[in-house]
Amino acid sequence: MTEIASAHAPSYYAASVDDRPARPALAGAVRADVAIVGGGFTGLNAAITLAEAGRSVVLIEQNRIGWGASGRNGGQLHSGQRRDQVHLEKQYGLDTARRLWTFAEEAKALLHDRMQRFGIDCDWTEGLIHAAHKERFVAEEWAYAEKLARDYGYDAVTPLDRAQLAAAIGTKRYFGGTRDGGAGHLHPLKLAQGLADAAEAAGAVLHEATHAISLRHAGGRVAVETGQGEIDAGSVLLAGNGYLAGLDRDSEARVMPINNYILTTEPLSREAADHLIPGREAVSDSRFVVYYWRLTRDLRLLFGGGETYRRGFPPDLRAFVRSHLSNVYPQLATAPVSHVWGGTLGVTTSRMPCLRRTAPGVYVAAGFSGHGVAMAGFCGHAAACAMLGDTERFDVFAQLSPPKFPGGRAFRWPILVLAMSWFALRDRLW
Ligand SMILES: Cc1cc2nc3c(=O)[nH]c(=O)nc-3n(C[C@H](O)[C@H](O)[C@H](O)COP(=O)(O)OP(=O)(O)OC[C@H]3O[C@@H](n4cnc5c(N)ncnc54)[C@H](O)[C@@H]3O)c2cc1C
Repeated sequence: MTEIASAHAPSYYAASVDDRPARPALAGAVRADVAIVGGGFTGLNAAITLAEAGRSVVLIEQNRIGWGASGRNGGQLHSGQRRDQVHLEKQYGLDTARRLWTFAEEAKALLHDRMQRFGIDCDWTEGLIHAAHKERFVAEEWAYAEKLARDYGYDAVTPLDRAQLAAAIGTKRYFGGTRDGGAGHLHPLKLAQGLADAAEAAGAVLHEATHAISLRHAGGRVAVETGQGEIDAGSVLLAGNGYLAGLDRDSEARVMPINNYILTTEPLSREAADHLIPGREAVSDSRFVVYYWRLTRDLRLLFGGGETYRRGFPPDLRAFVRSHLSNVYPQLATAPVSHVWGGTLGVTTSRMPCLRRTAPGVYVAAGFSGHGVAMAGFCGHAAACAMLGDTERFDVFAQLSPPKFPGGRAFRWPILVLAMSWFALRDRLW
């Protein structure tokens, strides 16, 4: 039996939003055009698209809205897909790579449109710096910036040499990099809560503390069974991502839950903050297990780093994340930490999202592989559009649907631990 959490993870995000009354759990039987399982960016954006198109929508979240990865991530909004265009062109051909780039740009536009249209103030800040932790990556990064301008008409990425980068991120640990003026960062829990309000304003019904236990097909419809109720729906979107368990084993074998961790310091002085990131950009690096960081509105350093591939978090989370932080900012190794937390995201073997229609009326959108601030919402929207008859975006992703992890659902964990540990080791060796 899944335990229902009535509170958010003990994150800086949860501590910096107003305490909201819980939405009531679903009780009894209801009927809807669409049932959505999962109250993160994927489910909430799908709910908005469907409700605005006049469909009746019931969304259920087993904990609180934004309780999953969407309410506790690094808040970094990246350009492009999780894999770069060079890889996508090789893997899928030029046409598909171009469409995927266009979708990623549409994803950013959708997010900005919804923030603006629904008046969601989620601390949006422009600019994202990418830092190369190996000297040989610098030329590659600069060449990639040129390629984006030349082949994709995207000229917001500018090169930074070693001295410029050190001045921009307050550490000499990196060799050079780029700044993307079309990317940025935000407060993800404020975004999730704003999207939930917008979905309700458009007519969707949201329930918290409601765990979907099983799906039942009957008479061309799908029943989503919960502890105390049932939704009789025309279609269902499974939007549980890394937290989905037991509802769709075939998709779960394609989406691996991985844990990632973040800390925030106590607020820094303006002088210290200006020394660290004077331009207030988000920063991420070139490690396979990425380090990412940024300053919050109230000038805390929010730093993410370290992954684990087993259920449960490391026992001393503070020491675990701090050890990664001190690789970048040794001077902050003993800085007072205000919050530390972990979360679970879904990754796929190809690092492309997993969008599938697994049975008549049953859609899945998951596996955004650390790129979900832009892509999860967009894929939720794409799944909703598919339900409304516009399958263009959904079909492109569905054709690239990632294969199962070796070992399938049962044995993927030990195999993944080995593979990921090898890549993490490579970060340190060469
Ligand atoms: C620590 C961390 C840092 C990250 N940093 C970034 C970043 O900086 N930039 C970026 O682009 N991406 C980042 N990501 C990834 C990003 O957060 C995710 O890709 C995105 O939030 C996924 O959204 P989602 O709605 O699909 O899933 P989630 O937000 O995880 O939501 C799924 C929800 O479904 C609910 N649920 C699951 N099963 C059931 C059920 N049976 N019944 C009812 N409800 C159910 C869960 O409780 C959960 O709330 C990070 C993730 C983590 C964990």
